[in-house]
Amino acid sequence: MDKKNNPKNNDSRQSNVSSRSFSNSNTKEKLNGGVFTYHTPLSVGKLAESLGLVASDIIKYLFMNGKMVTMNTVLDDNLIGEICLNFGYDFVKEEVIDASDFEKISIDDDPSLLVERPPVVTIMGHVDHGKTTLLDTIRKSRVAEGEAGGITQAIGAYQVNVKGKTITFLDTPGHAAFTSMRARGSQVTDVVIIVVAADDGVMPQTREAVDHAKAANVPIIVAVNKMDKPGADPEKIKMALSDLGLVPEEWGGDTIYCPISAKVGTGVNELLENILVVSELKELKANPNRFALGSVIEAELHKGFGPVATLLIQNGTLNVGDHIVVGPYYGKIRLMKDDAGRQIKSAGPSTPVSVSGLSEVPEAGDKFMAFSDEKQAKDIATTRMNKKIENERKGTSIPITLDEISKKVQEGKLITINAIVKADVQGSAEAIKQVLEKMSNDEIKISVIRAQSGAITESDVILASASNAIIYGFNIRPDALVRKLAEEKKVDLRLHRIIYDITDEMEAAMKGMLKPEMIEKVSGQMEVRQLFKVSKIGTIAGCYVTSGFIKDNSKIRLIRNGVVIYEGLLGSLQRFQSSVKEVKEGYECGCTIQNYNDIYEQDIIEGYYDEEVSK
Ligand code: GDP
Repeated sequence: MDKKNNPKNNDSRQSNVSSRSFSNSNTKEKLNGGVFTYHTPLSVGKLAESLGLVASDIIKYLFMNGKMVTMNTVLDDNLIGEICLNFGYDFVKEEVIDASDFEKISIDDDPSLLVERPPVVTIMGHVDHGKTTLLDTIRKSRVAEGEAGGITQAIGAYQVNVKGKTITFLDTPGHAAFTSMRARGSQVTDVVIIVVAADDGVMPQTREAVDHAKAANVPIIVAVNKMDKPGADPEKIKMALSDLGLVPEEWGGDTIYCPISAKVGTGVNELLENILVVSELKELKANPNRFALGSVIEAELHKGFGPVATLLIQNGTLNVGDHIVVGPYYGKIRLMKDDAGRQIKSAGPSTPVSVSGLSEVPEAGDKFMAFSDEKQAKDIATTRMNKKIENERKGTSIPITLDEISKKVQEGKLITINAIVKADVQGSAEAIKQVLEKMSNDEIKISVIRAQSGAITESDVILASASNAIIYGFNIRPDALVRKLAEEKKVDLRLHRIIYDITDEMEAAMKGMLKPEMIEKVSGQMEVRQLFKVSKIGTIAGCYVTSGFIKDNSKIRLIRNGVVIYEGLLGSLQRFQSSVKEVKEGYECGCTIQNYNDIYEQDIIEGYYDEEVSK
């Protein structure tokens, strides 16, 4: 390695993982209670216990100051400080930093060190609506300026200049990239542009793109494309997207719509200027004077250079020679190129770069972090690799289940629950969305990121997996494929027929009191072959057990032509005039259904029972 390239000498960049503690340095007088050292998250109950107080004292104190809390409320640093001082304690916050878990490290830069950074934009929309054309048009019109002979784009992202400011575009159109990045916990996009063809309209992938952007809480600009075409109808698009919550500014909403023609180039400048407007509102800032961290946009094994990755630097500065950990791999930046394929030595926030020098090919969405010390970086990569192997062995993954929510609540952790609601009719989906969102309280926010009528599809499972969401199915059953995908992705699928069951279950989870999950198991089925009406008893069905077994008093459902007609309990179960406990496949029997007589020949009686799922 060329010594001159090594930035370690005189490197003033701040490390990302130095351990930090914050104390109440303003308190001059010595407080009687002593110094209380705490770690977050800290609930009211836990704080009371640690300070040797009763929780009700803290709850009362906060109530007198206009704040309603419960035992489980997680306190922020300000409140912890205020309570400590009020009860006579000085306080120090200690952050336990596990450098190997760098996704979880929150970087709190001193505001005076922050500088503006370019917005990172992703273009999404339905196939053939013009995403690629728009990306090409922007690149050609902007990047080529001053580049004699044009440039060949080398990597999956590029930057353009608009009115003296820079915008970074991720050059991976479609939501697949966006989703897979989010599924890996990586959020790199500041603004989403949703392209809709004015001669076509809002299509399924348009809706999905809106759902994804909303779930990620990223502002949306709508580019109404193909305005040059004769059938262009932008008003129709505004109406359809308004139904999805994207109400145009001129109708009193806050979504910017830009009519464009990606092919001809009209309106593209205005679109770019609007990106600047939206990102200025977000006040995007970063600290160039720290070691870089960010995400992998794409990566491949290059024949000559070995593993090569396109990285987006989200904070700090990356230099040639830096020691980095990417996902679970170590690397030393050997060669760094910008979006035009030019070699560079250093790159700051929001810059996409292509780097070589990694030990292996990481995955899109993996996080990376640079370290000042080679040994530290190597140790962290090893720890991360071991964790990865362990997790793969355990089969753990990110999506959350109601049981985990219940556990988190017990631990007093503040959380947001994302949910997807699919129902037989749109009205039910909307109603369930409303009741669920109304259940949000101080500690737990419920956010329904998609509420639609129709079957549960693979796209629902993928959105759920990317957003840590639970899927509720109301009066619908998923098919085997979707069930399997949900199992693979560890997405919690909850199927109900009564709205109160959904809210009861959610309420139990929110109180940390979810009962062990029960799943329904079918014991067997029998076919009705003969009917006997007996005056005092009612209808006795002569049946033949076609599969499994049927127990007396079993829960049953009566199925006629594939439709569930009745659910209830089996009455008597008999063979040759004597009651029996169970009848197995291949045998005949007589039975009644409790409080139900409307049985027909060829009906199917299905026996089932609930079984607790062992975790
Ligand atoms: P993508 O699948 O969303 O990336 O769509 P493409 O960019 O590949 O565009 C699909 C088709 O629409 C191509 O044939 C483009 O030439 C055409 N197209 C894209 N933008 C416009 C436009 O503004 N006007 C017209 N007339 N055609 C366009």
